Amino acid sequence: MDKLTSLAKRRGFIFQSSEIYGGTGSVWDYGPLGVELKRNVKDLWWSTMVHQRDDVEGLDTAILMHPKVWEASGHVEEFTDPLVECKSCNRRFRADLPEVEGGQCPVCGTREAFSEPRLFNLMFKTFMGPVEENASVVYLRPETAQGSYVNFLNVQTAARQKIPFGIAQIGKAFRNEITPGNFIFRTREFEQMEMQFFVEPGTDEEWFEYWKAQRLDWHLSLGINKEKLRFHDHGPDELAHYAKTAVDIEYEFPFGWKEFEGIHNRTDFDLSRHQEFSGKRLEYIDPVGGKRFLPFVVETAVGVDRTVLVLLADAYHEEEIDGEERVVLRLNPRLAPIKVAVFPLVKKDGLPELAINLQKDLRAASIPSFYDAAGSIGRRYRRQDEAGTPWCVTVDGQTNEDATVTIRDRDTLQQVRVAVDQVETWIRERL
Ligand code: ATP
Repeated sequence: MDKLTSLAKRRGFIFQSSEIYGGTGSVWDYGPLGVELKRNVKDLWWSTMVHQRDDVEGLDTAILMHPKVWEASGHVEEFTDPLVECKSCNRRFRADLPEVEGGQCPVCGTREAFSEPRLFNLMFKTFMGPVEENASVVYLRPETAQGSYVNFLNVQTAARQKIPFGIAQIGKAFRNEITPGNFIFRTREFEQMEMQFFVEPGTDEEWFEYWKAQRLDWHLSLGINKEKLRFHDHGPDELAHYAKTAVDIEYEFPFGWKEFEGIHNRTDFDLSRHQEFSGKRLEYIDPVGGKRFLPFVVETAVGVDRTVLVLLADAYHEEEIDGEERVVLRLNPRLAPIKVAVFPLVKKDGLPELAINLQKDLRAASIPSFYDAAGSIGRRYRRQDEAGTPWCVTVDGQTNEDATVTIRDRDTLQQVRVAVDQVETWIRERL
């Protein structure tokens, strides 16, 4: 993890938030490469979950919602973690962490020094308007799902959807985690990609199995190592207050197997609670038989940041090439922040101009690219290997003679000669 964190900073993937002030607890900023990687993850998810289907609609709801939403959803009452405090060093921990359950403080080492556990609500509270009083309390949403539930009928009517159909959202969520950590694995501000699939009761288990398979397939399509992915079914004591059945998709991180996506059968829990608390009917009316019912919901919920961590950890490789060590990120080309780097072999004979022109064409074609003329060609390759750039194009002496360049593949290290005016097509065919 230390190697990954330092590579992420060195290459401009991820920086600590407010670093010059000593950092903010478990909040991270995405640098020039990180923001591209994150956008690519979100675009691929959106493309698979919304654009390639006719039964899922997109939605983008506000972070601030009516406070009653969180009473209805059960978050005010139930969204808590047990917290203990070490009486010796005053640090606070989640009581259910394995390193705390043994009774010894993981920071100062004192035994039997923990306070009685108390329940701590993970929602961030703030005030709407100029008066800081109980009546104006609002919460930063801890999940995007509730925005989809309260808009269920708006979306269904406007998009003229019939059950079964889904609502997908990507957006920020906030949780005041007691023990955040492991880089971007558990943070207090993060992004989620969530999809709520509304189905007729009785068909929910079938749809649960369907989405479980779909989601695993998606992760495999990103090129994540199959051996490091597994399902973990929730036992009765692990289930969230809203769930009938739940399964996690776990990845084997450097710090062990952990969840990065959850698939939940939320039944009609959320819709029935919103119906009760708002006093508004949220039933679906079947246009054919006229049957009225509250749909059940199968949810797929995955963190953008955790997915980025999975992708970085999975792509990171150290290897030896011709007696030299290289660090390479074997990112799927569709996810790679820079698709192609362009180098002039030497800074003479008009090669820089040719390379600059080629990069200009790539820019005009919206292919994320990078021009680099600094340092030896080997060093330029290494920098791109660390950035996960799948292809490096070198303009050399032969380019002046026959208008061809070499394209070097990040993973196989093979080089092919391609006509300058074919580079764009060559790259496009491989994305
Ligand atoms: P955990 O058990 O790790 O706290 P959870 O079961 O509470 O997670 P869900 O509510 O199912 O998580 O949220 C769905 C997804 O959102 C998670 O699988 C994860 O990818 C992401 N996520 C949840 N909490 C955080 C967090 N604090 N930081 C980063 N990502 C998070």
